[in-house]
Amino acid sequence: MTDATPLLELRGVRAAYDRIDVLFGVDLVVGQGSVVALLGPNGAGKTTLLRLCAGLLPLRSGEAEVLGVDLGRDRRSVRRRVGLVGHETSCYDDLTVRENARFAARAAGRTEDAADRALERVGLGGLTDVAHGRLSQGQRRRLSLAIALARDPALLLLDEPHAGLDDEGRAALDGVLADAPAAGLTVLLASHEVDRTRPLVTREVRLVAGRVVPDGSAVGQ
Ligand code: ATP
Repeated sequence: MTDATPLLELRGVRAAYDRIDVLFGVDLVVGQGSVVALLGPNGAGKTTLLRLCAGLLPLRSGEAEVLGVDLGRDRRSVRRRVGLVGHETSCYDDLTVRENARFAARAAGRTEDAADRALERVGLGGLTDVAHGRLSQGQRRRLSLAIALARDPALLLLDEPHAGLDDEGRAALDGVLADAPAAGLTVLLASHEVDRTRPLVTREVRLVAGRVVPDGSAVGQ
C-alpha cells in the first residue's frame, strides 16, 4: 500500500551549516510505502534534506516529524530507526563483510540471519570473508545498502544510490526499490539518474536552492 499514514512530514523546514541556511522552508509529506525521488541540481540541498531526515542535522526552524518522532525534540531515536546509505560508510576496515553486517544488524536488534540475507540480496554472498578495508568502492556501496536493509528500517534514505555500482549492483538496488511499496518500506532517495529512477519511484520531488519546486516547474537535474 502506498501513501497511507505519513511517515515523514516536513513543514517550513530550515536547516543550516555553520548558521548559513541551505534549506529554506521545505514542505514534504511522504506516506508509508512511497518511493520518492529527490531531484535537483548540484547544491540544491538533497543530501542536506536526507541527513536532516536521518536525524544527523539539527532542525533550525519549522516542523519535522519522522516515524512519528518530532525531530526538534528527539533526533537520536530517529537515527536508530532509519537506514541511511550516504557517501560515507560506518564500517570497520579490519572486520569482514559478514562481521560488519552482523554487527550492524545486532546493534539494531536484528538477527544475524537478516544480515546474511541482506548480503545475498546485494550480491555480496561471495565476499563475506573479505575485510571491509579490502573492498572496492562499489563493493563498499553494496555493503552499505546491505547493512541498511539488515537493520530493517521503516524509512530508507539513499543518497545517489546508483553511483559507483556495476550493472549487477544496480539491478539489485532496483529490485529493492521495486519491492519497497509491497513491503511497506518507505524510501526517500536523492539522484541525478532520473531515467534510471523514474520507473521505480512513486513520486518525484524537485529541490532547487533549498526549496521544493512546485510540480510542473522546469528544473535542471
Ligand atoms: P549534489 O547534487 O551536488 O550532491 P545536493 O543537492 O545534495 O548536491 P547538498 O550537499 O545538500 O546539495 O548541499 C546544499 C548546500 O549546502 C550547498 O550550497 C553546499 O555548499 C552546502 N553544504 C553542504 N554540505 C556542507 C557542509 N558540510 N558545510 C557547509 N556547507 C555545506
